[in-house]
Amino acid sequence: MAKSIDVELLNVQKKFGSNVVVDNFNLQVEKGECVSFLGPSGCGKTTTLNMIAGFLEPDQGDLLIKGKRMNGVPSNKRDLGMVFQTYSLFPHMTVAENVGYGLKLRKVAKAEIAERVGKVLELVKLPHVADRYPKQLSGGQRQRIAIARALVTEPSLLLLDEPLSNLDAKLREELRDELKRLQQEIGVTTIFVTHDQEEALYLSSRIVVLDHGKVEQIGTPWEIYNRPASEFVHTFIGKSNRMQGVVEQVQGDTLVLKTASGFTLQAPSRERRFSIGEPVSIYVRPEKIHLQTADARAESNNEMQGRVKLTSFLGAYTECEVEVGHDVLTFRIETAEQEASLAAGQTVNLNWKSEDVFVFSGQVKE
Ligand code: ATP
Repeated sequence: MAKSIDVELLNVQKKFGSNVVVDNFNLQVEKGECVSFLGPSGCGKTTTLNMIAGFLEPDQGDLLIKGKRMNGVPSNKRDLGMVFQTYSLFPHMTVAENVGYGLKLRKVAKAEIAERVGKVLELVKLPHVADRYPKQLSGGQRQRIAIARALVTEPSLLLLDEPLSNLDAKLREELRDELKRLQQEIGVTTIFVTHDQEEALYLSSRIVVLDHGKVEQIGTPWEIYNRPASEFVHTFIGKSNRMQGVVEQVQGDTLVLKTASGFTLQAPSRERRFSIGEPVSIYVRPEKIHLQTADARAESNNEMQGRVKLTSFLGAYTECEVEVGHDVLTFRIETAEQEASLAAGQTVNLNWKSEDVFVFSGQVKE
């Protein structure tokens, strides 16, 4: 069956003066998907969302919603629900009035408004606050109401701009779970702007990673994490240890590398071209590094010896920094496995599989 595309961006570009802040943006969002725009501050996430919302016009390119060209169509004719970072509820209206406002504008009958507001408040699990005013709600409750208000018109597209970033850590996590449940329950096509990679991994069916107005990669959370298209994507998503080195040999798809600290490593080339003597940045994630044991040794072909610098107990695991020549590698020990078994100054052998190493051309200047 043909895929149903709810949102399409075709070569969309936006400039402010001579500054190109969104460049050649191409994307298709399928019906029911939750797609995140992820990237550092200033990369163009909000500008892109604002073009989809109709608050800004692209300078070039086309924007389609449900197959219809939307360039020049006002925001209120785009059938959208929107939630922003700030709660943006009307302070002089009750929760029920706030949530029902969009329906009132559409001249829906009073009885139907009451019914639909009741339903959507049930959906966000806040039916008991209908008669309160926004100032009588907590931050988390206000944001749930903002979500209810965005959903009450049953929009074909839900746009969320950092809706969790004003909440404290615990509430943020709670509302994140709630958003995922809601999005899946209703199946509304959603575009979510965030600079928080964990939030993007958690909520999205696909992630668009942006840097300086350019799309670096579009992929599922798994693809973004495990098959990063660039050094930027690899380092923006999750923690990673970086070592500098050079390519010593290219053997088919396998690279033999020499780190600046003098260790020899192997790594897959991942279809990138490298030449002998080329300076490279070498990455391995903390969770892929293991303390040397007889078992681990059997399947790992990258080994290094170093001295423990620091250990930090973090509940589920202990994070450990090890000095390996000029480099410091961070790795994790499952707490249940070995309680406080490493001491600063101790010599340890670390290993990891070559397939867990990522290599990118060039070296980053310190
Ligand atoms: P943040 O996470 O900080 O909100 P963002 O990725 O959403 O960042 P945008 O708000 O889209 O980034 O901004 C992209 C770039 O465009 C930034 O360099 C910003 O300074 C610039 N910019 C945004 N709006 C305007 C404007 N109205 N006039 C001029 N420059 C703007």
